Amino acid sequence: MQAMTTTDAHPLRELLPEGRVFDDVDVLEAHRRDRATFCPSGTPSVLVRARSTEDVATTLRWANENRVPVVPQGARSGLSGAANALDGCILLSLEKMDRILEIDVEEQIAVVQPGVINGVLAAAVAEHGLFYPPDPGSRDISTIGGNVATNAGGMCCVKYGVTGDFVRGLEVVLADGRVMRTGRRTAKGVAGYDLTHLIVGSEGTLGVVTEVTVALRPAAARPLTAVAFFPTVADAARTVAGYLGKGHRPSVLEFMDRPTVLAVQKIADLGFPDGMAGMLLVQSDRGEAAPAELAAFEEVARSFDAAEVIVADDPAEGELLMQARRLVGDAHEHLGLALLVDDVCVPRRHLVDLVEGLGRIADQHGVRVLCAGHAGDGNMHPVVAFDSDDEAETARAHQAFDAIMALGLELGGTITGEHGVGHLKRRWLGEELDEPALWTQRAIKNALDPNNILNPGRVLP
Ligand SMILES: Cc1cc2nc3c(=O)[nH]c(=O)nc-3n(C[C@H](O)[C@H](O)[C@H](O)COP(=O)(O)OP(=O)(O)OC[C@H]3O[C@@H](n4cnc5c(N)ncnc54)[C@H](O)[C@@H]3O)c2cc1C
Repeated sequence: MQAMTTTDAHPLRELLPEGRVFDDVDVLEAHRRDRATFCPSGTPSVLVRARSTEDVATTLRWANENRVPVVPQGARSGLSGAANALDGCILLSLEKMDRILEIDVEEQIAVVQPGVINGVLAAAVAEHGLFYPPDPGSRDISTIGGNVATNAGGMCCVKYGVTGDFVRGLEVVLADGRVMRTGRRTAKGVAGYDLTHLIVGSEGTLGVVTEVTVALRPAAARPLTAVAFFPTVADAARTVAGYLGKGHRPSVLEFMDRPTVLAVQKIADLGFPDGMAGMLLVQSDRGEAAPAELAAFEEVARSFDAAEVIVADDPAEGELLMQARRLVGDAHEHLGLALLVDDVCVPRRHLVDLVEGLGRIADQHGVRVLCAGHAGDGNMHPVVAFDSDDEAETARAHQAFDAIMALGLELGGTITGEHGVGHLKRRWLGEELDEPALWTQRAIKNALDPNNILNPGRVLP
């Protein structure tokens, strides 16, 4: 007789419909981690693939009564370890709740389930002449639920804002299984505390998002693109502050340093000139006004010693350049080194101090630090690349990673612009927030999840 494993008898099998509960070792293994390296992941007891709000409510009710931790998961593209398994936890995947429920063209909103992929929503609303701007580099893989839970940013955020700026209302399952609706469908609404934006960015620690109402905008014109190459990273950083300081609002303003450009070139040869320290990629989607906006960019870039500025007059060429920018994560991974991805965001006038500081930190700690990022937001992704087989180098890499966050705070910035705190930066949240703010955050967590079952040990130090 075949021995029955503990998970064969998992009580949720009795409570949920067929095809929701999985305990196969390979399936559990495949769902144990997000994309952050060096964050611990435990052994889950079971994976629940929810297909309805009721599935989520049943799961949470049982977990709360039995004090079992629950880790909500979207596509596991997160970069902070927040979706990693905990020992004995229920992994609660929302990926199969992937229907676009409504696109209301007149009201310019969409209502979606959390497992809808960002790029799928963007493409669907585009067919109605509408635009969903938040576009993380992971837009083709990450889910709207994950984007809401991390308040994801992206390339267009410099002009349009981040995910939270587009979330009007939510359906959220609370820790005890009750279903709460927050927010509104209307353009305005201030009834009560803003629970919608309490849940946005809460990384699965306050509730599980089962439906999202997002605001849309009319489609923008196809953007025009320019790239500029600089002899020093400081010149590129000064150009960002100088250009935006003149009141321009490009729809994209991204930075890549030389090692990043070289890494991207290895997987997609774009014929970029050699010998440059930094590159800026800028787009304007202002239609007839776009050429003037890019001409103004060229003028500022040249005033900060840009060696070359190329304006692509064909929008298709611009899309190719954007694809290159979206390849940065893959390109860094192709280096064959271990990576610690940082996410500091600083006031734009201090971008120059940040990029110069990265060079110093790399030298001091004897590690490589590459950098790309959403420069227009002051949100950079310095990446510490190192040999993880070398213990001493690994220790130095972690010190460099910490030094980058310390520098971000010193410059008046934040430890995370968009990736979230998760496991990776818990300790650092205590450095950034003052004691009353930490007290308030803990009080909110205790009120909403008194048994600490929702993604415990994430976010709060
Ligand atoms: C190549 C690459 C590029 C990236 N570029 C960007 C970028 O430009 N901007 C950016 O902000 N991020 C970026 N990211 C990080 C990541 O894609 C985002 O954080 C994204 O929002 C995570 O979505 P996900 O569906 O993968 O969520 P997951 O990684 O599965 O989960 C992330 C967090 O959300 C919680 N969660 C997921 N779904 C729900 C739900 N329905 N209810 C409650 N909690 C939930 C999880 O518990 C976890 O805390 C990038 C990642 C990669 C790999």
